[in-house]
Amino acid sequence: MSPSPARAGPVMTGQPPLEQRFAMHPVFAAGDTRGTPIWFVHAGDAQSVLAGFGDRERAFAAAAGFEAKPGKLLLIPAQDGKLAGVLFGLEKPGDPIDTFRPGALVNLLPAGTYRFANAPHDARLAALAFATGAYQFTRYRKGETRKIRLVIPKGVDGDEISRIAEGVALARDLINTPANDMGPDELEAAARKLASAHGAKIQVTSGDKLAREFPLIHAVGMGSPRAPRLIDITWGKEKDPKVTLVGKGVCFDTGGLDIKPSSGMLNMKKDMGGAASVLGLAHMIMAGKMKLRLRVLIPAVENSVSGRSFRPRDVYASRKGLTVEIGNTDAEGRLVLADALALACEDKPALLADFATLTGAARVALGAQLPAMFTNDDKLAADAAKAGLAENDPVWRLPLWQPYEAQLDSKVSDINNMGTDGFGGSIIAALFLKKFVDMPSWIHFDIFAWTPSARPGRPEGAELMAARALYKVLCERYR
Ligand SMILES: [Zn+2]
Repeated sequence: MSPSPARAGPVMTGQPPLEQRFAMHPVFAAGDTRGTPIWFVHAGDAQSVLAGFGDRERAFAAAAGFEAKPGKLLLIPAQDGKLAGVLFGLEKPGDPIDTFRPGALVNLLPAGTYRFANAPHDARLAALAFATGAYQFTRYRKGETRKIRLVIPKGVDGDEISRIAEGVALARDLINTPANDMGPDELEAAARKLASAHGAKIQVTSGDKLAREFPLIHAVGMGSPRAPRLIDITWGKEKDPKVTLVGKGVCFDTGGLDIKPSSGMLNMKKDMGGAASVLGLAHMIMAGKMKLRLRVLIPAVENSVSGRSFRPRDVYASRKGLTVEIGNTDAEGRLVLADALALACEDKPALLADFATLTGAARVALGAQLPAMFTNDDKLAADAAKAGLAENDPVWRLPLWQPYEAQLDSKVSDINNMGTDGFGGSIIAALFLKKFVDMPSWIHFDIFAWTPSARPGRPEGAELMAARALYKVLCERYR
C-alpha cells in the first residue's frame, strides 16, 4: 500500500472550515439548471441515446472510437469548438454496478458547470460521488483549483447529500492529518469544534480521574507525553431514543513495547480512524437534526514507547471490574474501547455502535474494501448489510463465535487481551469487546479507514467506512 496522502481529485480549493459546512457542498450548483449535459450510456442503451443526437455528433462519436463501456469518456464539441456535451460509459444493467462511477468525472472533466442529461444508475449516489470524489487533503500544500460544478439532479436532496459529503470530508481530514498534528489534544480540539458547531455538550476526562475511572484507557496512553483522555459528547433531547457511538482514537500506534516493524507502523496515523468515523457520522446526525439522543465516546490516546509504557504481562483493572492481563501491547485498541463500551452501557442506549481500525486480521479476511461487522442483534445485522449495499458503503458480517472465547483465558486475571493461536484475530478482538458490552443491540465495525488506490468517489488515502451504512439505518429508524 502506498503511504502517500490523498492525491486524487484536482478539482476544488481546500475544504471549507466546519462552521461553513451547513450549506450546500461547493461542488453543487444550487438552483442553477443550466450546465453542460452529461449523457450516461451503457452497452444496452448506447444506440438509443445516440439516436437522439445530431448526425454530426454521432459521426464524431464514431470517428473518436467511443465505446459505451464503464468509465469511457467522450467530450463532444459544438460548431464553435466549445464543449457541447459529454458522453460517459456505465455498466449495463445486470452487470455488477459501481453506483459511484459517475464520481470519476469530477477528476476527468474540464472546469465548468454540468448537469445529468439522463439518469445514471443512482442519481443520488452519483451526485454524492461527485462531492466525495472532489475531496483533496490540502493542509500542507495547495490543492488544484479547477472548479467543477454539478447541478443537483431532479429529485435529489442536495442538503442531505451535502451533509453526508461533509461528514466524509471531516473524517478524511482527521485521518489524513499526520500524528504530529493529530495527537489526543488535537483530536479533542476537533471534537470540541464539532460539538460547539452543533450546540452539543462535551466533557473530557483525563489525569488522575481517568486513571481511577478508566484504568485501561489510562494504561494504554500513559507511555506518551501526550496525555490520554476520554471525550464524551452528548446532543439531542434526553427523552429521545439513545444512540451511542464509540470510536477508537489511537492517534498513533507504535505497537507499544511490542513494537511494530516499520512496514506495520508506517500508516498508523490512521489508527484514530474509528474516532474520525464517529465524528463524521455525528456531524451527519446532528446537521440532519435526527430525532435521537446522541452520545459520542472517544478514548483518545497515543500508544507510545517510553519508561512509562504499559508492559506485556502487566495486569490492569477495567471500568467494568474485570481484570485484564496484557498479552500484547499492540492489542491496545480493544483495551481503550473496553472502558468506553462499559461506560456506554451504563446509561442503556437503544443502540450502541463502535468503529475501530482494530485488526489486520479483518483485512486478511475481507480485503481493503469490506469492513467487518460483528453484532449480537440479527435485525441490526440485516439492516446494516442492506443499507451498506444500498449506499455503496458495504459491510460484511463475521461471527461472534463463542467457542473461541476460551482463547482469551488468562492464568492470572479474568481475561487476556490476546488470543492464543493467531487465527481468527478479528473475531477474537470482537469477543474481547463483547465481554464489556452488556446490552442487546451492539454493533462493532472493524474498519480499514483507508483507500489504498483511488476509485470513483474515493480518493486514495483516508476513508469513512461503514458510517454511511449505519447513517441510513439510523435515518430509517429515527427520522
Ligand atoms: Zn495496536
